[in-house]
Amino acid sequence: MNNNYDFVLKEIYPDLTDKQLKQFTDYYDLLVEWNTKMNLTAITEKKEVYWKHFYDSIVLGKYIDLNNEFKICDIGSGAGFPIIPLKIVFPNLQISVVDALNKRIVFLNEVVNKLGLTNVELYHARAEDFIKEHREEYDIVTARAVARMNVLSELCIPFVKIGGRFIALKGADGINELIESKNACKVLGAELSETIEFHLPFDESKRVIHIITKIKKSPGKYPRLFSKIKKNPL
Ligand code: SAM
Repeated sequence: MNNNYDFVLKEIYPDLTDKQLKQFTDYYDLLVEWNTKMNLTAITEKKEVYWKHFYDSIVLGKYIDLNNEFKICDIGSGAGFPIIPLKIVFPNLQISVVDALNKRIVFLNEVVNKLGLTNVELYHARAEDFIKEHREEYDIVTARAVARMNVLSELCIPFVKIGGRFIALKGADGINELIESKNACKVLGAELSETIEFHLPFDESKRVIHIITKIKKSPGKYPRLFSKIKKNPL
């Protein structure tokens, strides 16, 4: 059986080099190997990982131009999605990877070393604490499968520079969640620029990407403690 799924990545980026394709293979191998020791992903079949994690992460570059030396922060990266696949495709990016669980950061450290990725900073931290040193620092902040939009907006928007963007990668329900985040955007000095809807070619499941632009400084009291955000979302 042919076990090569490079075509999934080449569907969007036909010019990916052998080095980049190998980085994806190595990433897949590490993911599956480490997943036996810790909970990283429920998806382990190669074909599914290539579509549902890799393609789903890198598709963002189809909609926004990432060919700059952008400073990007990914909040709640887990096993590295979407930031590691994006970094492989766009090596020019300067990435900060934040997750509340140290074991996931330990895994990502291994990925970064094995793949030889540079300009990567890994942080074991909660967004609510990480903000202290990184307020309004990033051109782009991404988050995928971390929280609903009303909670996520408060966790992410304070990190974005004025004129920068917060990008939320969502499943089908992402459309309904948008209404919830309207007030959060207003309070945090941001506004929705664009919502992109598409279907994953693999199984036609729906995906939604919200692009939110920061227009003015977020008040210094946000993000609040997580218990407060959850209990009383903006
Ligand atoms: N983004 C990855 C993906 O799409 O597969 C991981 C999703 S996983 C469901 C959510 C991750 O967010 C977990 O690894 C969790 O530790 C992290 N997380 C949740 N709340 C967080 C917070 N407030 N600050 C930092 N990380 C957080």
